[in-house]
Amino acid sequence: MLFPLLRKKRYRGILLDAPRDGDERCQECGGACCSSFADIEISWDEYELLQKLGAKRLQLALYGPHKLEIDYGCEFLEEGRCRIYEARPDICRRFSCSEV
Ligand code: SF4
Repeated sequence: MLFPLLRKKRYRGILLDAPRDGDERCQECGGACCSSFADIEISWDEYELLQKLGAKRLQLALYGPHKLEIDYGCEFLEEGRCRIYEARPDICRRFSCSEV
């Protein structure tokens, strides 16, 4: 059977306690996590920074966290890579995934 060849790659994600930078992550998945959620929570400082960087899909909340919508792909995702990698939000820095 050819079905195993058609199997989509599956990833398991975890949210690390502390941000971890480095290009060893995010090299091969093409930004799967950057389009697998409806939105990500961001702080007020991150809201302002992303706004300066041209974000159009920000949600300002009076109560609760502000958000960047990433459903159907984050607007900063370009050819499978984060266009604002050095300035990406904390939650993006703490998210890590591996193929299962
Ligand atoms: S800001 Fe960058 S790392 Fe975060 S979801 Fe968007 S493309 Fe991905």
